[in-house]
Amino acid sequence: MNIILLGPPGAGKGTQAKLLEDTRGMKQLSTGDMLRAEIAGQTEIGLRVKAIMDSGALVPDEVVIDMIAHRIEQPDCAKGFILDGFPRTVPQAEALDAMLAAKNKKLGAVIQLVVDEDALLARIEKRAAESTTVRADDNAEALKKRLTAYRDQTAPIVPYYEGKNMLKKVDGMAAVNLVSEQIDKILG
Ligand code: ADP
Repeated sequence: MNIILLGPPGAGKGTQAKLLEDTRGMKQLSTGDMLRAEIAGQTEIGLRVKAIMDSGALVPDEVVIDMIAHRIEQPDCAKGFILDGFPRTVPQAEALDAMLAAKNKKLGAVIQLVVDEDALLARIEKRAAESTTVRADDNAEALKKRLTAYRDQTAPIVPYYEGKNMLKKVDGMAAVNLVSEQIDKILG
């Protein structure tokens, strides 16, 4: 099954995606990770997006749409993929629908991790403290911008998928194992 995990920065999308990889053999496709790899490799895309990403703003839609269109064709996505960090705008959601239709693929569910925004800063500070490679955008200023980008540009995809009767909400404030139980129930 192919699914989307949706939620603001720090909601736990990456953690849940990793668990689904282990338990179901699905493939996590994180556009944030892909973009960070482009930056690390100093590719043309990487050079183009570095300053935007570091600031906490979204990179142009066509950059991530092209990356995902290519990525979902790869053999490791055959058992299903988990979109983590994509789509992040309504135009990206529309482009995803078009590419899935063209490739004869379907979305099984869109799972929203609902979290209390006040907790997010604490979670991200914890992540930055525990990680050996601190992300350039895990600082208070960039985080504020990422949350604003989420509210203004990403939250509108919630009604987009509600309108298609695809949206499932889970309580992202629960413990990691309880969040994954809720997701397991949805996926069946
Ligand atoms: P988080 O969910 O913690 O904010 P991500 O790793 O998903 O982190 O994304 C980090 C940054 O990568 C974003 O702030 C944005 O600049 C860029 N990015 C990732 N995915 C997208 C996307 N689908 N559209 C536009 N920009 C994106």
